[in-house]
Amino acid sequence: MTTPLLGQMMDVPLTVSSLLAHAARHFGSTEIVSRRIEGDLHRYTYRDCEKRAKQLAQALIALGVEPGDRVATLAWNGYRHLEAYYGTTGFGAVCHTINPRLFPDQIAYIINHADDAYVLFDTTFAALVDTLAPQCPHVRGWIALCDEAHRPPMQTSVLCYETLMDGQDGGFDWPALDEQQASYLCYTSGTTGNPKGALYTHRSTVLHAFGAALPDSMSLSASDSVLPIVPMFHVNAWGLAHAGPLTGAKLVFPGKDLDGKSLYELMESERVTCSAGVPTVWLGLLNYLRETGGKFSSLQRTVIGGSACPPAMLRILEDDYGVQVIHAWGMTEMSPLGTLSKLNWEQSQRPLAEQRKLLEKQGHVIYGVDMKIVGEDGRELPWDGVAFGDLHVRGPWVIDRYFRKEESPLIDGWFPTGDVATIDPDSFLHITDRSKDVIKSGGEWISSIDVENVAVAHPAVAEAACIACAHPKWTERPLLVVVKRAGFDVTREELLAFYDGKVAKWWIPDDVVFVDELPHTATGKLQKLKLRDLFRDHVLPSALEDGRNCALTPGAQGKPVR
Ligand code: AMP
Repeated sequence: MTTPLLGQMMDVPLTVSSLLAHAARHFGSTEIVSRRIEGDLHRYTYRDCEKRAKQLAQALIALGVEPGDRVATLAWNGYRHLEAYYGTTGFGAVCHTINPRLFPDQIAYIINHADDAYVLFDTTFAALVDTLAPQCPHVRGWIALCDEAHRPPMQTSVLCYETLMDGQDGGFDWPALDEQQASYLCYTSGTTGNPKGALYTHRSTVLHAFGAALPDSMSLSASDSVLPIVPMFHVNAWGLAHAGPLTGAKLVFPGKDLDGKSLYELMESERVTCSAGVPTVWLGLLNYLRETGGKFSSLQRTVIGGSACPPAMLRILEDDYGVQVIHAWGMTEMSPLGTLSKLNWEQSQRPLAEQRKLLEKQGHVIYGVDMKIVGEDGRELPWDGVAFGDLHVRGPWVIDRYFRKEESPLIDGWFPTGDVATIDPDSFLHITDRSKDVIKSGGEWISSIDVENVAVAHPAVAEAACIACAHPKWTERPLLVVVKRAGFDVTREELLAFYDGKVAKWWIPDDVVFVDELPHTATGKLQKLKLRDLFRDHVLPSALEDGRNCALTPGAQGKPVR
């Protein structure tokens, strides 16, 4: 057998630190602007950011953190969170971003499952940390992301971030790492059972950043001012915290205030050209613009994903505000980008209505992701825009298995997404449904099983099913369908009150419907797809209320919808 001829190029590992090092060296004076928890606007540069990320790395090493250890964050989008991204991964530790909107018990589960060594937290979450600390005995320390003057009063003994930073000089060289080492750990609750961890590698993070920046992806460049509305605790802000330094784009972080007014003012003052977020935040922005008559003076495009972008939102942003909408689909298990709606040259020559129809779909894959749809027998289905099946994906930034789980989720080397989709002859993906048993409200998951478990614990409930119901503001909200136990009675209000303190407030169903029986399969499994179909036209009381004030409702302006 002949020996293959190896190429003669430098073997430079793709490491996360190289992204920030590149930005600091070649875009050193480009700004990173953050609206801080302290209330003011903080500005510094990529050069400053790298120095402080190195100070953090030194501080964590001094605290005994070793490569491979997990360091968690409970934080909004801001410069200190960015320092945490690079100050941990830069020396081989793993940055574990936690979604603070989860119920405290779930967060404690996640921290314990990840075996986090330290947790860095924004002071907004001081009370949450006091609740978590007794449940997380293995955490070696909690670090408040503030200076001594802003240290919040707490029961937990905590370290102060800026004091730790002051003790270090930033004279540190990023060590060489194996690109297959773990970089970030993100848990998803978009699966049944407990949240599961997706553990990315340095290589997958850097390749994903390249993919995110491509012209037919988010199309980032050094001439952009980018405002990630999507949280840094939600799949690394869809890669923007990496694609930003990779391209040298200016970064603008909104902190904790994601209402229309705060976002709009920041977009205008920082001349933002590109943004990204779930439909719910864009709705908030559009409502604000409608009320005030405001227009964008610099915003050129926005990526909308996490949930399906309503066609009306796409039309209004493009026609009324001149903002290009890039509809994106992906998931935590995919780092997250999979497809984006951009037209190729030929498609852009078609009649406008046809172009729009395509753009409303979830789009075309970017290099790095392959996809297929399969039928019940596992066979691949045609790309005719009609046949729908389970969507499977694979690629270098798709997970191979979940963190600390032995069994592989893959089927024949492909990851089953739990989404149901069609793919058309243009290779455009269209998500039509979901086979996974979860609900997505405002871009965040609600476990239907957990909601059902609370309901069936009520003495008057024989059986309960929780399904997603369309909602103008949150995209989906939970509807509880209940069969009462014979001889018992319970009202909608009593059942809803029963949820108090048992799940996060935003997990409580918006409505309850009582039925005589629920549809089951021959094997006794609840037929959620059929149930969703039965209640497709159900109007939630909260949807009526929010629909009145919704910028997407034609002529709404405070008038009732029906
Ligand atoms: P997450 O892991 O929280 O990012 O959630 C990923 C899931 O959100 C996907 O599997 C889909 O179910 C849903 N999702 C994401 N983007 C879209 C989109 N553009 N349209 C419809 N569903 C989406």
